[in-house]
Amino acid sequence: MNHEKLTRRRMLQSAAAGAALGAWGFPVQPASAARAPADLTILEPVSGAVLNHRHGRQTSDGLTIRVVGQARRGDRVTVNQVACRVEGTRFEGEVVLRQPETDLLAVAEGAGPSREDRVRVVWDRYSEPRYRFSIDDNSFFLRDIAQKNYRSLFDCFYLKMLRDLHAKYGAKFSVNIFYTAADDAKVATGTDFKISQFPDRYKGQWRDNSHWLKLAFHAYANMPDRPYQDVPPERLVADLDLVAAEIRRFAGEESYAPPTVIHWGMTRRTALAPLFRRGVRALSGYFVNHGRGWDINYGWDDAHSEYLSRHNAWKDFESGIVFSRIGIVCNSVPLERIAAVLEPLAKDPNTAEIMDLFTHEQYFWPFYFHYIPDHARRVDRAIRWVTERGYQPVFFHEGLLGGRV
Ligand SMILES: [Zn+2]
Repeated sequence: MNHEKLTRRRMLQSAAAGAALGAWGFPVQPASAARAPADLTILEPVSGAVLNHRHGRQTSDGLTIRVVGQARRGDRVTVNQVACRVEGTRFEGEVVLRQPETDLLAVAEGAGPSREDRVRVVWDRYSEPRYRFSIDDNSFFLRDIAQKNYRSLFDCFYLKMLRDLHAKYGAKFSVNIFYTAADDAKVATGTDFKISQFPDRYKGQWRDNSHWLKLAFHAYANMPDRPYQDVPPERLVADLDLVAAEIRRFAGEESYAPPTVIHWGMTRRTALAPLFRRGVRALSGYFVNHGRGWDINYGWDDAHSEYLSRHNAWKDFESGIVFSRIGIVCNSVPLERIAAVLEPLAKDPNTAEIMDLFTHEQYFWPFYFHYIPDHARRVDRAIRWVTERGYQPVFFHEGLLGGRV
């Protein structure tokens, strides 16, 4: 991250006339960060933007998008050698994307030396409306099955509920698990359930259902809060490896998925490369600002977090990971508000294509102090809403956020 360039761009943005440009440009490619002078800037699209048919005109030939920026008054501007329209200090041009990733190179010529700015964007060429359902903080159902020694996995009401939703809607579930179900005190004394105690005798059943039910690492335990926000990446990766080995042991390779949500959505930036090497291709977060700064955002700065708060996706080229903004957290939204939360997402071209649906396991269990009696109905309502509007179920660890590549 080049803070100098970010500051410059943000200053440009605040100086730009009109809100139409929004908070657009920010640096992503370190290679280009030092090159662009202050008086030529591509503002839209941003570097890392994930663009689909809703962002331009798509034909078999490519996706034609609009490129907007600022240049010195009087300069001639091209983007990828196509002449742009210049009005005052604002330029606008069109570029056809034909590759999965494309560099947009703006060149300005006039008095003095020529200037360049560059961003890179992703074309989600085969994009179709899709949804992913992720359930975080799982441990109780594994403890329940291990303790009750059920004949079938689906004798556990929780997995039966998920299977019923699969049967009804074709829904797929990413179930993100802890190593232990223990609370703080029991982690210390080692007296509560660990997934190393889970038997491998259901392996066949896991495999038979692995086309719609995947298990992934989420954290070592529910507590402490924000366990990976400020720890060395080695700690995160060690916990991931521990859980991944257990999933493979008791459920088999077909049921294993690399994580797509880390507990609390907070890691050090240095954790991203090791996570990528473990197969991580997508990470979801809230990218929310409740007035005390951006949070649940994997530590991304204000500009990136604000962008993600209004877009489905953004790619960090440095790590290769695509970040996704969670669209709804079912345990936080009353049943009658589910549609009202999803509707605006489906109307905005920047959030309409990919629905990142989400909830937490705890709230399904009557013994939990925040038990939500209608939790299953909320999940059903959200999945029904997207299903009726043509969204297809996907897993985010596959393809480009579940889309064909
Ligand atoms: Zn969590």
